[in-house]
Amino acid sequence: MHAKPSDAEVVVIGLGAAGSHAARRIAETGVEVIGLEAEQLLHTRGAYAGESRLFRAAYHEGAEYVPLLLESREEWLELQRGGSREILRETGVLSIGSAAAPQMRRVRESLRHAGVAHRALSTAELREQHPQHGGITDEIGVLDLLGGVLRPEAAVAELQRRARLAGAELRGGQRVAAVEERGNRAIVRLGHGEELSARVAVLAPGVHAPALLPRLAPHLVIRPIGLTWFCPEDAEAFSPERFPAFIRDHGSTHLFGAPTLDGTLVKAGYDARLGTIADPAELPGALADEQREAVAADVHRLLPGLPPYVARESVHMDLFTADKRPVIGALGERIVVGIGFSGHGFKLAPAVGNALADLALARPTRHDLSAFSPDRFAG
Ligand SMILES: Cc1cc2nc3c(=O)[nH]c(=O)nc-3n(C[C@H](O)[C@H](O)[C@H](O)COP(=O)(O)OP(=O)(O)OC[C@H]3O[C@@H](n4cnc5c(N)ncnc54)[C@H](O)[C@@H]3O)c2cc1C
Repeated sequence: MHAKPSDAEVVVIGLGAAGSHAARRIAETGVEVIGLEAEQLLHTRGAYAGESRLFRAAYHEGAEYVPLLLESREEWLELQRGGSREILRETGVLSIGSAAAPQMRRVRESLRHAGVAHRALSTAELREQHPQHGGITDEIGVLDLLGGVLRPEAAVAELQRRARLAGAELRGGQRVAAVEERGNRAIVRLGHGEELSARVAVLAPGVHAPALLPRLAPHLVIRPIGLTWFCPEDAEAFSPERFPAFIRDHGSTHLFGAPTLDGTLVKAGYDARLGTIADPAELPGALADEQREAVAADVHRLLPGLPPYVARESVHMDLFTADKRPVIGALGERIVVGIGFSGHGFKLAPAVGNALADLALARPTRHDLSAFSPDRFAG
């Protein structure tokens, strides 16, 4: 026998960037929304931790993302204007890769498709204008002028502040144990036996999604991602004014990085070299010595002005899908999901939050989300 669950109109589970923004947008329509977060409202175990996230409109991942990226950029700037902290520093983002590489073709396509301001750089121009990048032989560059560096912790804090201002009730320390549809309600079970009954539950629980969504679990894996920072010999050459954030595909090495916005260090690393873990509790606290040495050697090879040793590091995790595209959509009548951002979802979070809000409120979404439908996995 279940005790009678207390009621809410919409419950949002997981208050990272997408969940927090969804809660805000739902609350702004006057609908009652409760946001539940397993940890404290801001914490270090989210996929958003680690000081900076790249924002790019040049998207080798596919042109279907571009409308979401442009909408997100407007939202990030709006968030910044309405608050008192820096959210997005528009440094530009430089994509570097072999002229023949498919990802560079896709970068150019995505920019053309969206009419996004950018600068194409030949191999010679790349060498001359961005001498920090070494070993350039056949590579070309595309400088995405809308790109920049997001401040993820500040952004999540600001999104939550706006959600609360709009009337959302956000509760930290509330881990959801299960969600199910019962009759025409979504029943949200909390760890200590309490239940909430909602018209719709929005699930954005990051790496914890497999436990809450067993139907999707076989298509999801948790990947640790290490971040490493380096202290340049010539700090001026690597300042945000002279060294834009970048992603670079060089042979089999996919490197990304950004100067810290105070100009003291440079973050540079790989996006996927640490395998997978079965459970978030298995996240390693640090890189193994050989992993740290390997990334430092590659960073020094491709950015010779950075020394081959790491000044600072941290290890985080994100939830990856088999096709590295997120899962955004309805799963049944009463459950909406936004998960599986596969190492590239932070920049997209406002557009995803808007889509989750539209779905929860049974409004048409602004963009075609069929490429991200849960049906491709859930059948
Ligand atoms: C190191 C690293 C670098 C990255 N770099 C970039 C980048 O440069 N650009 C970019 O766009 N993206 C980047 N990403 C990806 C991006 O950060 C993630 O895709 C995005 O933050 C995922 O957001 P999320 O809302 O799914 O998860 P989270 O931010 O982790 O939010 C989920 C929240 O749900 C809570 N939760 C989980 N389970 C429950 C439960 N049962 N009950 C209640 N609450 C629960 C969690 O505590 C958490 O707060 C990077 C990711 C990592 C890890």
